[in-house]
Amino acid sequence: MAADSGTMRRKATNVLLDTALEEFYGAADEMGLSERLIAILSHSERRLEVSVPVEMDDGSLRVFKGYRVQHSTALGPSKGGLRYDPAVDIDECEALAMLMTWKCSLAGIPYGGGKGGIACDPLTMSKKERERMSRTFAARIAPNIGRWSDVPAPDMNTGGQEMVWIMDTISKMRGQIEPAQLTGKPIAYWGSRGRNEATGRGVATCGLETMKVLGKDLAKMTAAVQGFGNVGSFTAKTLADAGVKVVAISDVTGTYYSPRGIDLVKAFETVRNDPKRLLNGFSCEGCEKLGVADVLFVDCDFLFPCARDGVINKDTAGRVKAKHIVEGANGPITPEGDAILNDAGVLIVPDFLANAGGVIGSYFEWAQNLQGVFWTEQEYNDRLVHIMKDNFRRVWDYAEAKKVKMRRAATMAAIQRVADVVELRGTFL
Ligand code: GLU
Repeated sequence: MAADSGTMRRKATNVLLDTALEEFYGAADEMGLSERLIAILSHSERRLEVSVPVEMDDGSLRVFKGYRVQHSTALGPSKGGLRYDPAVDIDECEALAMLMTWKCSLAGIPYGGGKGGIACDPLTMSKKERERMSRTFAARIAPNIGRWSDVPAPDMNTGGQEMVWIMDTISKMRGQIEPAQLTGKPIAYWGSRGRNEATGRGVATCGLETMKVLGKDLAKMTAAVQGFGNVGSFTAKTLADAGVKVVAISDVTGTYYSPRGIDLVKAFETVRNDPKRLLNGFSCEGCEKLGVADVLFVDCDFLFPCARDGVINKDTAGRVKAKHIVEGANGPITPEGDAILNDAGVLIVPDFLANAGGVIGSYFEWAQNLQGVFWTEQEYNDRLVHIMKDNFRRVWDYAEAKKVKMRRAATMAAIQRVADVVELRGTFL
């Protein structure tokens, strides 16, 4: 049969999507994946775009754009977050959906990959406006959402409240409560103990495992954490609880640096009391306030970028002092940044290994919802840490055996599992 566009290599104008495709093609070629499988897996099963009209508080009407991409359902229902951010577009969602496919595959959980969101600036919107927007968005993506088809979760600028609005809307449309169609819900309403802290706990676990395999003394290690949202804050806390000194934290208000160690109890208290949940006005003993991006360049052993994509790039990578980076955010290092860091001998633990704690925790929540049971926090955390450690060691050993970087090793292992199932199921997916 003549080659059609499906068998040609895709190029994207969106940087994140182009990077995801390049990494996929690179890994697929290295493992000798057939062109047939490359063609299937380099395309998303479904890219949905919806309009989201919202009555604003001042009486005006705004129409936002919303998206939901299902990259793959080969292994199970597509799984991935919904983000509210001005930079959201269909290609960004597709890149992140593809990343979710590899993340779920590598984690060994029964999901494919999806991602979605709304192009908006939620920090400038009232709670009522965000509720109206979330509910309309939910109604428009509802045909694709379901516990056995596509299961969204929180992502950038979304959390338990948004999940409840969306679940409630779709449940009312269907005339029945459907808790397992969304994860990351509040504990009070079908959520799971442990889920809120899960991503950060998993990121920190990868950092701690890296220190252990390298024979480092945890008590002598220092860390800087970029971002103090759901991921960064619990990464910092878990590291500190294990004895690592966290010397810098940051968010959009700035970097807070103290070589003596940041007072994290105070940092949590500051964000709890701030209406925008930011580190506004934070200070502690010996703490110096620096520029927003400076967290990347402070003196430390381990850097945890837990904020957003593209922050370590061709302009910033050369100034990073840390010799180890654990990616808490999705895509925080660009390919140019990656090349600079690799030349400088920096060890990088890739995002879809390091931040998989969130989606593994989502799987636990979904499994509990399907059975109508609730686990204890201890049970949840023990299982999470066990899987994270196991996955880390598997990728570490694979990278050593194949003499490749961890990112490549993780991508290859993840693709293999999906490819095997696509072969089993055939092309009628
Ligand atoms: N948004 C998180 C991620 O990027 C969690 C996704 C989920 O739990 O489905 O991994």
